[in-house]
Amino acid sequence: MTKSAEHKEAVESMFKAASLGIIISNAEGIIEQVNPYTNRLFGYEEGELVGQKIEILIPPSLRARHVDHRSSFNQSPRTRAMGTGLDLFALTKSGQLLPVEISLTYYERNGKREIVSFVSDITERKRIEEELKALNSELEKKVEERTKELSQAFMELQQSNQDLQDEMEQRKRAENEVRLALEKEKELNELKSRFVTTASHEFRTPLSAILTSASLIDRYAAPADAAKRAKHVQTIKTSVQALTSILNDFLSLDKLEKGKAESSPERFSLLEFLDEVLDEARPLAKAEQRLRHVHEGDAGEVWLDPKLLRSVLLNLLSNAIKYSKEGTEILLGSRLEGGVVELTVVDQGIGIPEADQGRLFEMFHRARNAASIQGTGLGLNIVRRCVDLMGGTLSFRSEEGRGSRFEVRLATEGGKR
Ligand code: ADP
Repeated sequence: MTKSAEHKEAVESMFKAASLGIIISNAEGIIEQVNPYTNRLFGYEEGELVGQKIEILIPPSLRARHVDHRSSFNQSPRTRAMGTGLDLFALTKSGQLLPVEISLTYYERNGKREIVSFVSDITERKRIEEELKALNSELEKKVEERTKELSQAFMELQQSNQDLQDEMEQRKRAENEVRLALEKEKELNELKSRFVTTASHEFRTPLSAILTSASLIDRYAAPADAAKRAKHVQTIKTSVQALTSILNDFLSLDKLEKGKAESSPERFSLLEFLDEVLDEARPLAKAEQRLRHVHEGDAGEVWLDPKLLRSVLLNLLSNAIKYSKEGTEILLGSRLEGGVVELTVVDQGIGIPEADQGRLFEMFHRARNAASIQGTGLGLNIVRRCVDLMGGTLSFRSEEGRGSRFEVRLATEGGKR
């Protein structure tokens, strides 16, 4: 056998054995030759397709378009895959649609163009692709579901976190309340015990003074002892005054503590009222201590609670007297202007050490330089509470060893109501 005969036979065998449809057609689309695989694929008998138009293998709906494709292929023939990226279908003899992939090539024989179509059955590939698609979409659905579940769980977690936080805050608040109540109770207990200590201490001194003076008066019976008797009578008076003032402090404090006190304003003349207060304070003054009153501004009436105001002024004046030496001047200043009453009590006494100034209005707090002078440490606390009840302000300036100045400012409607 010649080389070319051998070659021809090999090509022939390949053509017959190929597991790929090979269709040779002419430029007009007439099928000239098909390999056995093509017949099997499309369900034709051998020789049945030869002489048929290639469009016999194309679904009727696509035939017209295919004729156009064919003529444009003939005008500029190239080797190429057909319908790349498209799903192609071919038609079997029995009318079934077959998913296929087609590539085209051509050659010239005896001056005529022959077109070769290679047809692969991609049914299996399509099936796998479809399966893969289904699997994918199932997977996507699952992912979506899981995401939903997760975000739901996340939201629940957030909610329970919030609940936990709320509960913790509630607990903290409750703890705080209990702690505050405990502290308050402790403070109250401390106050009570300080009260007992102060009361017994402060009562003992005037009481023993009264006892001594009383027994001495007994001894100074002679008319010549009149001066001595008078001195002891004065001591008794002063001691009783001290006791009364302590008792008054306790009583006002008790009233203030129980929340019973409230401001009940009345209309009264400020100057007359101040004169009365000064008259009440004078007997407390030490020898040669002068109580002076200076007034500025209107001389009209005010609308204030006289009991609270009296308590404020008597406490401030008695402190000024108590913490100043004999022979000094104590000044009560008053000013009524634009509906505001300003009252000042100024002394030249022992003053208040800077270290004690911050806690001066606390109950039982006494400055270190006042230890040798009788007192309960309640007066200024009462003053502050009374001023608060009247809606006023209280302030002071003091220098140790030089004196103090207390100031009260109260709004009044000038008694016009
Ligand atoms: P007390 O019964 O001790 O006088 P207060 O509450 O009236 O109580 O005063 C508290 C403390 O403030 C006093 O113990 C004293 O140390 C100081 N104090 C008050 N007023 C004066 C003042 N005019 N001069 C000096 N110290 C004062």
